[in-house]
Parts: sequence; structure tokens; C-alpha cells
Amino acid sequence: MNQQLFQAVDQYICKLFAQNDEALDAVVASIEKNNIPQISVSASQGKFLQVLVKLCRAKSILELGTLAGYSTIWMARGLPEDGKLISLEYEQLHADVARENIKRAGLDKLVEIRVGKGLDLLPQLQQEQKVFDMIFIDADKPPYAEYFQWALKLSHPGTLIIADNVIREGKILDETSEDEAVKGVQRFSKLLAETKEVTACIIQNVGEKEHDGMAIAVVN
Ligand code: SAM
Repeated sequence: MNQQLFQAVDQYICKLFAQNDEALDAVVASIEKNNIPQISVSASQGKFLQVLVKLCRAKSILELGTLAGYSTIWMARGLPEDGKLISLEYEQLHADVARENIKRAGLDKLVEIRVGKGLDLLPQLQQEQKVFDMIFIDADKPPYAEYFQWALKLSHPGTLIIADNVIREGKILDETSEDEAVKGVQRFSKLLAETKEVTACIIQNVGEKEHDGMAIAVVN
């Protein structure tokens, strides 16, 4: 694969459609300063998520896996003034850094970050009778299938469910893989394909990040 070419084309796309502003640059700097892993979506993927927010006219978004709030900011910027984004994050440090970044971006009225394990926090959302227009799954990979099952419970017809990192440089082709992340997304993708309540596909991504992919599903 021609990684250099993919990177150059990604830069071209970002220059046209997805330039980081001060708030997004500050997120990138905060990740480095706090020794947080650099595993946010890329700028062009962030803009893609924002386009999806607009496409489904989302007023309520659920994100699993906040990290420092980079994808959160891209998505929240697509919300109307009375919109709401709830993001679930396991690491207290990530949540603290993300809250600061989101405040700096002027989005703290729209965004709520809840700290804990996704699978522990999701039942509470159901008890609160929350229903979301868009759900972005981007936390730990082994329970992706369970996250998807929860996403279905918290959705309505038309809800868009997106899951990142489901190609993993093609490692998903190895059915004997012992890698827990690979096994998690393989289990998820199989379940997604078999679930009649959604119309789904996977789009491969190349660009500044490694070869990967996003699953996109709409609830029927
Ligand atoms: N969505 C972020 C972005 O693009 O800016 C990147 C999220 S990063 C790939 C995954 C995040 O999920 C990390 O911050 C990690 O701490 C968090 N995480 C890991 N296990 C989790 C769990 N069980 N529940 C919730 N969050 C978890």
C-alpha cells in the first residue's frame, strides 16, 4: 500500500474540508502534554462524523470512548443549539482533559461526559429512557458486539450507529487471530451483518492513520 500517497491525499482533503482550528489544535496538544495515546479519529474522519450528524439531523448523540474529546468536538459542532451529546469514558484522566477541551471549544452546555466502564454506564441510560439519533462506538474493542446490542436498545428507527476500527489493517481476515481487539470486531461485524433491525455496511479507510474502517448502520 502506498501510505505516502494516502497521507498526501488526506492532507489535501483536510486542507479543503477539515482544518483544525484553535480548539482542535488544543486537543491535540493536550493529548501530548498528558501522555495520552494519540488514537483520536483523524481530522477528515472527524469531519465525516460531523457530516453524518447533519445527515441524520441528530439532536442527541451517544459516544462510547471520549479520549480527549477530539471526535466529541467534531460531532457536537454538528448539533443544533438545543442538542445533547453524552460521551462515556473509562479513564478519569481522559475525561478530565476532555472536559477542559470541550469547555475551551465552548461546547460544555451541549456535552456531558460520564466516567466509568461503558457496559456499567449503558443500563443507566436505558433507565433514564434515553434514545439517541446517532451513536458512535469507539471504546475498547472486545465488547463491541455488546455495545452494539446496547446501541439498538437506545435507538429509534433512523438512528445511525457507527463503529470505528473494524478493519485493523486487514487483520480481521485472520479467523484464527488471538488478538482480543481483532476477535472483538470480528464478532461485532458478524452480529451487525446478521441483525435484521439494521441496514449496514463497512467502509474501509486509508489516510494519515493506518488502514482501517468504520461500520455504519441505520436502524430500520
Ligand atoms: N473517540 C475518541 C476520538 O476519536 O477522539 C477516541 C477514543 S479512543 C480510540 C478509546 C477510548 O475509550 C479511550 O479513551 C479509552 O480510555 C476508552 N475506554 C477504554 N475502555 C473503555 C470502557 N470499558 N468504557 C468506556 N471507555 C473505555
